[in-house]
Amino acid sequence: MNDHDNLVREIPLRTACASSDDESHQEEREMYEVKEEVLKEIPLCAVHLGEAIRMMTISRQDNSHIDFDQFEDFLKFLKRTYPKVHQVCQMDVVNQFSVLYHWKSESKEGKPILLTAHYDVVPVEKSSINSWNVDPFSGEIKQGYIYGRGALDDKNQVISIMEALEDSIENGFLPKRDIYIAFGFDEEVGGEKGAKTMASIFKEKNLQFEFVLDEGGAVIEGVIEEITIPVGFIGVAEKGSSNVRIITSGDGGHSSMPTKNSAIAKLSTIINNVEKNPMPAKLTSPVERMFQLMSPYMGKAGVLLNHSKLVFPLLKRKLSKSKTMNAMIRTTISFTMTGGGETENVLPKTAWVNANIRIIPGDTLDEVMEHIKKFNKGIAFEMKVMNREEGSDVSPYDSESYRMIEKKIKQVFDGVDVMPYLMAGSTDSRKYSGLCDKIYRFSAVKMNQDDLDSIHGANERISIENLQKMILFYKILLEEFLG
Ligand SMILES: [Zn+2]
Repeated sequence: MNDHDNLVREIPLRTACASSDDESHQEEREMYEVKEEVLKEIPLCAVHLGEAIRMMTISRQDNSHIDFDQFEDFLKFLKRTYPKVHQVCQMDVVNQFSVLYHWKSESKEGKPILLTAHYDVVPVEKSSINSWNVDPFSGEIKQGYIYGRGALDDKNQVISIMEALEDSIENGFLPKRDIYIAFGFDEEVGGEKGAKTMASIFKEKNLQFEFVLDEGGAVIEGVIEEITIPVGFIGVAEKGSSNVRIITSGDGGHSSMPTKNSAIAKLSTIINNVEKNPMPAKLTSPVERMFQLMSPYMGKAGVLLNHSKLVFPLLKRKLSKSKTMNAMIRTTISFTMTGGGETENVLPKTAWVNANIRIIPGDTLDEVMEHIKKFNKGIAFEMKVMNREEGSDVSPYDSESYRMIEKKIKQVFDGVDVMPYLMAGSTDSRKYSGLCDKIYRFSAVKMNQDDLDSIHGANERISIENLQKMILFYKILLEEFLG
């Protein structure tokens, strides 16, 4: 970035202070000295996150558009910033940029645990640049917040795990069981080279984990109107994300003499039919449990939620009206890309649309495709599976590990309640299925609606206080396995 110098001045860095001895740089030095004062008030963890954000580790579908130097710099940054971790843990770099740490235990009391996160980020859309209050890759710290792409998704988690680990090692702790840390570098584009490859390495070693903890849920406040206390949502399952291309054919020819058999008209009928006929609503076990735990806060509606299974036929109509709740109770089909026709006055012979299908645990992609066929009888079309990803397994929410994570959340966040839920989005964690039946998705960050909107959006930021809480969460979680 060409205004990098400005960034260095904005964010006080130790390296920046040591740079000029020359008298002619007197003015500059004075400025840095002032900043040095400011630095004393900013905790080092915040400076570290700011630094992490400045490396533009942007994931893109097309490999040739990725600046891998930034990823290399990120690995150097980890080594430089967390020397103790690198002295004590075995570090493996997988597929050039994924990072795997292994803190070996002498005593081996129980199965190993795995903490994961990812350090790649989504790009900042050009059209959204003006909505940002700061440069999205500045890592600028102001008014108690660290700003930038990755501040909430998911460099905060990488930094928190590393800070907690470095601190535990510095304090002389030793692990009572093996601890693994895995950082993916391509989560935002599917995690094939990162998490998937790291999972295959674990499989080769026949490892089985006590639990896996990845990003996902968070401590949510002020999002559900009736619930006035903060709630920690632990994702115990996630929906699958598959893509199917629907292709129609029609008579080509000149647009001045159209037939009634056009490919685009057929396609639009199909799209309409699918939108009018959603997949049937289903109550999965984590959602039923979430409703039960929510019920005391929900006034009159609480009675229904407490018996959601019994009254589901009634409840589902209400829930379908909210896009968040609708996504939690059914497989959804969204049309995301379309094409067909290249010239203004020629009827295309084929047209296509991409259906992004988010599959609830219990449904399958084959069932969804049958559903699409069922509501489009009499129309000729083809369906091509672009990628198949089914819903994840459901992890137990009464296990000892779940309870332990719940306890830690309650220790860190005052007055919080904890509930399991089903994630509509997907994470790297699904790649570790088969290695563990207790996969939990939770980021120890308190978020309101604005924070949620900033993820993949404008003004992504985390408060210093929030970052410190996240580190504390990992510290007390690790302590459980240290002696
Ligand atoms: Zn993420």
